[in-house]
Amino acid sequence: MTNITPIQREPLCSICGRPMVDAFKPFCSAHCSNVDLARWLGGVYAIPAASADDDEDGDPPFAPPDR
Ligand SMILES: [Zn+2]
Repeated sequence: MTNITPIQREPLCSICGRPMVDAFKPFCSAHCSNVDLARWLGGVYAIPAASADDDEDGDPPFAPPDR
C-alpha cells in the first residue's frame, strides 16, 4: 500500500518562520502581519492593471497615436 500520509507540520509564519499565533494568523505577530501587508501592497501597486477591466467604453487611459 502506498498510503502517503501528509506531514503534519506546525504552520509557520511566512515572514520570520516562527510558529504561527492564532491571533495573527497566518503570522506570528502584528509586526510580521504589517511586514507582509506592506510587501503585498507594494507588489500590487507595482503591477499595472493591464487586462482587468478593459471592457470599459469610456476614454482609454492611453490614447492610441494612430487615431
Ligand atoms: Zn513572524
